[in-house]
Amino acid sequence: MKLRLLLFLIFATQVALAQKTIIHCGNLIDGKSNDVQSQITIVVDGNKITAIQKGFTKPAADEKLIDLSQKTVMPGLIDMHVHLEGETNKDQSLQRFTLNEADIAFRSTVFAKKTLMAGFTTVRDLGGSGVNIALRNAIAQGLVVGPRVITAGKSIATTGGHADPTNSYRKDLMGDPGPKEGVINSPQEARQAVRQRYKDGADMIKITATGGVLSLAKDGSGPQFTDEELKAIIETAKDYGMHTAAHAHGVEGMKRAVLAGITTIEHGTKMTEEIMDLMKQKGTFFVPTISAGKFVAEQAKVPGYYHPLVVPKALEIGPQIQETFRKAYKRGVKIAFGTDAGVFPHGDNGKEFTYMVEVGMPAMEAIKSATVVNAGILGMLDKIGTIETGKLADIVATDENPLTNIRTMEKVSFVMKEGVVYK
Ligand SMILES: [Zn+2]
Repeated sequence: MKLRLLLFLIFATQVALAQKTIIHCGNLIDGKSNDVQSQITIVVDGNKITAIQKGFTKPAADEKLIDLSQKTVMPGLIDMHVHLEGETNKDQSLQRFTLNEADIAFRSTVFAKKTLMAGFTTVRDLGGSGVNIALRNAIAQGLVVGPRVITAGKSIATTGGHADPTNSYRKDLMGDPGPKEGVINSPQEARQAVRQRYKDGADMIKITATGGVLSLAKDGSGPQFTDEELKAIIETAKDYGMHTAAHAHGVEGMKRAVLAGITTIEHGTKMTEEIMDLMKQKGTFFVPTISAGKFVAEQAKVPGYYHPLVVPKALEIGPQIQETFRKAYKRGVKIAFGTDAGVFPHGDNGKEFTYMVEVGMPAMEAIKSATVVNAGILGMLDKIGTIETGKLADIVATDENPLTNIRTMEKVSFVMKEGVVYK
């Protein structure tokens, strides 16, 4: 009898501690419907959404009220392409030699916080040194404030390719990086590199299928993997339940990656109609990163900001991305929201919405690409991406209705992640 009483008391205390939160939403974009609903109440208990009610429900005495009755509420935003380990600055190539992992780690916590405060409650980190894996863990454990991170760890490249970490080093420093460092030159090494990423704790695989803008190498768009290498990477990734993303600017490398079964194409600058149709056929998603294109094209005009090898590539590739996005969207390619934050300052991720809407994507669709669509690609639709009963309470709000002013997405004014209010 005494034990029962004790158990009852423990249970009663826990119930009392788990205070419910009632959120009054002026407008609600739930990620599912194409309509904006008005005057909705969301009930949050612990880290989850437990009810959604029409009208403004009065909170009980022990319930906390969050008044967003003048705001537009939507699911936490998801950016499919960020690099939380760094942020653009004119000394970035030098910093590869001056920053220790600990320096990178401390800085990444600042970038992570900026990202969360901008309304992005989940991000996919598409490559760094591997510190991003530790950052993911620290955030998940509640030690650091930031978005939920799905990370590629270190990207996979071929020798001299876009993500070869020793490009442009002096010969004696260059060494000969291999699969462990994310550099492969055969299908065998490709499999080894994927398994190493799995062992390191990466969630997914990123490859640099073509040259790129910011690497210190001349070529910005040629193919950098053979068909056999791509096949080996994608097949092996599947064995470990990992999806794949390919950085790609040029036609040939992009086409090879799509045919090999890559999940997402990043940047996609020179995407042809043939590739767009192939992507539709294969169900490949396009992650445009218009923000990065615009930023590097602007910065390339600032004398000395980028290395001389980078400037002509930035001027050529940067301005094309928005137009490619316009064509791909119009042709029916599946669009996944992603920005390449880090190439431009973290926290400015919301500008991408403006760039997407500017060239023809309806605001509602742009918001869905950053919520429900991305959650689906990440295989997390049961937890995030929409505002529904049973899902994690990742909830953000803007002062204005984004359907009438998309720029309000650049200034998210309320952020809740897993039931905790951060802004
Ligand atoms: Zn990137």
